[in-house]
Amino acid sequence: MNTSEALRHFWPQLGLCPAQLEGGLLISRSPIDGCTMARVAATPLAQLDEKLSRSSAAFRRWRQVPAPQRGELVRRFGQLLRRHKAELGHIVSLEVGKITSEGLGEVQEMIDIADFAVGLSRQLHGLTIASERADHRMMEQWHPLGPVGVITAFNFPVAVWAWNAALALVCGNPVLWKPSEKAPLCALAVQGLWERCCAEFDADHPAVRGEPPMTQDLCQLLLGGGEFGAALAADPRVALISATGSTRMGRSVAQVVAQRLGRCLLELGGNNAVVVGQTADLDLAVRGIVFGAVGTAGQRCTTTRRLLVHESQHDALLQRLLKAYASLRVGDPRENGVLMGPLIDEAAYTAMDQALQRARGEGGEVVFGGERLSLPGPAQGGVYVRPAIVTMPRQSAIVCEETFAPILYVMRWRTIDEALELNNAVPQGLSSAIFTRDLIEAETFLSASGSDCGIANVNLGTSGAEIGGAFGGDKDTGGGRESGSDAWRQYMRRATNTINRGRTLPLAQGVSFEL
Ligand code: NAD
Repeated sequence: MNTSEALRHFWPQLGLCPAQLEGGLLISRSPIDGCTMARVAATPLAQLDEKLSRSSAAFRRWRQVPAPQRGELVRRFGQLLRRHKAELGHIVSLEVGKITSEGLGEVQEMIDIADFAVGLSRQLHGLTIASERADHRMMEQWHPLGPVGVITAFNFPVAVWAWNAALALVCGNPVLWKPSEKAPLCALAVQGLWERCCAEFDADHPAVRGEPPMTQDLCQLLLGGGEFGAALAADPRVALISATGSTRMGRSVAQVVAQRLGRCLLELGGNNAVVVGQTADLDLAVRGIVFGAVGTAGQRCTTTRRLLVHESQHDALLQRLLKAYASLRVGDPRENGVLMGPLIDEAAYTAMDQALQRARGEGGEVVFGGERLSLPGPAQGGVYVRPAIVTMPRQSAIVCEETFAPILYVMRWRTIDEALELNNAVPQGLSSAIFTRDLIEAETFLSASGSDCGIANVNLGTSGAEIGGAFGGDKDTGGGRESGSDAWRQYMRRATNTINRGRTLPLAQGVSFEL
């Protein structure tokens, strides 16, 4: 089945209308075979103002709904996702080229964060704090913040929205979603499921007479280019902008939001290293490295891009990697046994090819892959490459850049200090990992003077985080933390309250002010 036919097979199974796929200006092309799958309607930019006003109105209603009841809506959405995991997972694969199990894994992440958010809806707690004044009590409350603008990248076309939306909604905020223009169908499919969930919820929770339904305009979609993201960033009605994408985009968003002293949460590029120590279990390391470097065709923010190997392990590890890479099947990501699908588009291949040329110019040797593959059958229309391994004499300029493609740069080190210096000497700070059986080395890597990344792992790779932890990184990665732990606080505003139950008015710091 070509991708366009496959789309038309899964779309109605999600309860969606096939007419949505025709007649619009926004083209969805599958990277699997290059087929134009759909032409969907773009949102007119002129509608943005009205959508923002609707979002502000939805906020005024939704913040009054008790948080556990807000959680109930998210719980139902999680249930609906469970029922449609397969169809939605297939649409992710069709539109961005993920292998089937990764497409399904992305939907599983949506389900997981929904579950997490449901629990959280009963745990949005502040502190009580001892007051220095007699008969006084201090406490913190966390209140809903306002409309949240969510800008997402092509490579996680549904999960990143869910990380943000599930938390934003239980925290009492509506969401305006600007998905990647490369993945409009994923966004339309999610929005369709969301609207179905809302209709069922509203039927069970009738609105007060004269009031709109409780869920009206809670999640709206803006289908179009970067101009929607820029407009959201500039508008003071958007209380928080959560932007996922390239560092270039994040820098621009951050500047616009800073102009209005707004709040942003940035999840930007990574340039993640795996450090392999002298005592590493190489079987484990090879599995972790290959999944990290080649999974999602090297198009994850957490993709392993640099391999820093103790000199004693360098040759043995390289031999094993070459063997593993040679056995990897690249092809139509829907086929059993294929572990690497296509690059997203021609531009991604050009960037990869240029990076490899620069690496050669900087003294590197491409010891495996890098070439474009011409596959038989429908995959002929897609952009498929052999993943590349490049040995580098040093961490040169190209190695310090994030090229969003499956290139693994390999470098050597002698001392753990040298390895840490290399790990930290790039502008990005997202994910990192060490393979070692040496406790001191592992603990050093995790210590304050160790890896400077938001994610630091021991004996597993850089990719594939769980939703329970806070996700994100510092430096050029933007500093944001999404998903688990206490990331929810960014979607709320904090109020510190002091309450006097006495009959006098003592002032803090012993200040005297007698009238
Ligand atoms: P991109 O920056 O090209 O686009 C991301 C989104 O930003 C799109 O929706 C796009 O329309 C929008 N956009 C573009 N210009 C904008 C502007 N000036 N203002 C506001 N919005 C604008 O990124 P991409 O190619 O879709 O995705 C790949 C990048 O995303 C990589 O750098 C990757 O590391 C990063 N990424 C980071 C994370 C993370 O959690 N840290 C997750 C996924 C992807």
